Amino acid sequence: MGIVDDDIVRVREATNLRDIVSQYVQLKRVGRRWVGLCPFHAEKTPSFGLNEENGLFKCFGCGKGGDAITFVREIEHLDFVGSVEWLATKAGIALRYTEKREDEGRKRRGRLVDAMERAVEWYHQRLLNADDAGPARGYVRSRGLDGEIVRKYRVGWAPDGWDTLVRALRLPDDVIVDTGLGFLNRRGGQTDAFRGRLLFPIFDVNGDPVAFGGRVLPGHDGPKYKNSAGSAIYDKSKVLYGLNWAKGEVVNADEAVVCEGYTDVIGFASAGVPTAVATCGTALTIDHLRTLRKFARRVVLAFDADAAGQDAAARFYQWERELDLDVAVAALPSGVDPGDLAQKDPARLQAAVAEAVPFLGFRVERALAADALSSPEGRAKAAEVALAVIREHPSELVRDQYVMQVADRCRIDPEQLRARLRSPGAQRVAVDRVATTASRVWLPETPEVNALLALIHEPDVVDPLLMIDTTLTASMFADLKNLAAFNALASTSSLHEAIEVADAGASELLLRLSVAELDGEPEDAVAGLVREAARREVRRLAASETPIPLSVHQALNDINEPNTKGSAITELLTWLGSQSEEAVR
Ligand SMILES: [Zn+2]
Repeated sequence: MGIVDDDIVRVREATNLRDIVSQYVQLKRVGRRWVGLCPFHAEKTPSFGLNEENGLFKCFGCGKGGDAITFVREIEHLDFVGSVEWLATKAGIALRYTEKREDEGRKRRGRLVDAMERAVEWYHQRLLNADDAGPARGYVRSRGLDGEIVRKYRVGWAPDGWDTLVRALRLPDDVIVDTGLGFLNRRGGQTDAFRGRLLFPIFDVNGDPVAFGGRVLPGHDGPKYKNSAGSAIYDKSKVLYGLNWAKGEVVNADEAVVCEGYTDVIGFASAGVPTAVATCGTALTIDHLRTLRKFARRVVLAFDADAAGQDAAARFYQWERELDLDVAVAALPSGVDPGDLAQKDPARLQAAVAEAVPFLGFRVERALAADALSSPEGRAKAAEVALAVIREHPSELVRDQYVMQVADRCRIDPEQLRARLRSPGAQRVAVDRVATTASRVWLPETPEVNALLALIHEPDVVDPLLMIDTTLTASMFADLKNLAAFNALASTSSLHEAIEVADAGASELLLRLSVAELDGEPEDAVAGLVREAARREVRRLAASETPIPLSVHQALNDINEPNTKGSAITELLTWLGSQSEEAVR
């Protein structure tokens, strides 16, 4: 978005991540890595690691990770361009910006935002002063929005005329249309988009006005809410109402409250919960959460929890995993929206947020609350449903907490529940098996992971063995995430690129690998991968009673001996290659 690619590369190359990070964190050398207390979350023992050579960092506590640009983005709350500019200044590099088109794009955005700003102010003054806004002012007061609130949120009034705004602003057609402030009627005349509505201006995270949410006054025709359509400056799947005001508090609290309406956000703030934001007439998307994740690790959902319940669950878990985010649910009294509650019982609203339960807890409670716990059959059934819910959670420790809760409530031996939990979804458990040595924090010690480590940290030794025939090597990975990580490495020329092109799970794995260390010799890592793959193939063939060459059995022995390891690797690679060719035929 703006800076010439070469210059971004130059900035990356000129930047020493350790120097940058050291300005914020005291780092200690451990093996080849540097570790320290994470600047992004509170901790007493260091889980933040960085690798000076490849310029990547990763926190195993809060999950943040990336390169120097990411680090500066996160710690200084800058966007990508801002972060590169920040680093360039440190490195004394003069940046060049991409061609005119981008400059023009920026100018265009500026014109549209200026137009929106004028509209915000015009509508706002209208609400404060105009004669025709009397009923709107009355309504606003009845909803508990006093003058101070109206001014802070710049609430406005769109008069009930066809072209009052456009005549006042006198803007070119394209600006009126592209901002969504108006449209052209059949005779080509400019026409206001909002008429007879209370308007809540929507600002992006930087405070630029980009859209409006309009509410009709009670007793008037038309849909209750009418919001700006998406535009060149407004992407409703990303923008959250209120984040521009709330972001500081959200960072401090490490938590954001997500509600549904403009008045809910205002209600929360006046009830002493300044961290509320709202989606603007759309369902919550992963992009909304990506936006929030830059500011906080925890999101509290404060809308009708029943509706958010089970349908959304799978999505939330995926998001929690993908973004390393905790999703909790505020227990609001059903049928009451937060805006109303803020007025009637602000303490209750505060408590609902303070007592928000993790999303999993909320779902387990649903499973158990279903009135069936009175009979043995009912309890068994409820436990089954609860287990299905628990199984989806990625952390074994968390799962076990809930297992004990379910065991207690359903009067079932926890061991029995654990066994059931382990059986079908067992493969997931391997992912969070925690390795104990400092150099292998939170990585499963499997031959595949070792091979990936070797590829990243010892490419000179390992590439000639594993990168010559990448199709063959890929066929040796049985775990899909490992495979995705390998494919990303094989299809790019640097670790940075691989992290960029990989899907979220594999990219996260690559980041972890980048700051971890390989234990032992790189050649052993290759041997391990080849041995596992060959054994798998032998088992497969044995199952169909296909004879296996003696040389393969021999090589599977030889691969464990230092003297014969090299030739055994070659032998098995050749055999695996011929097997996969056979499979193609
Ligand atoms: Zn952290």
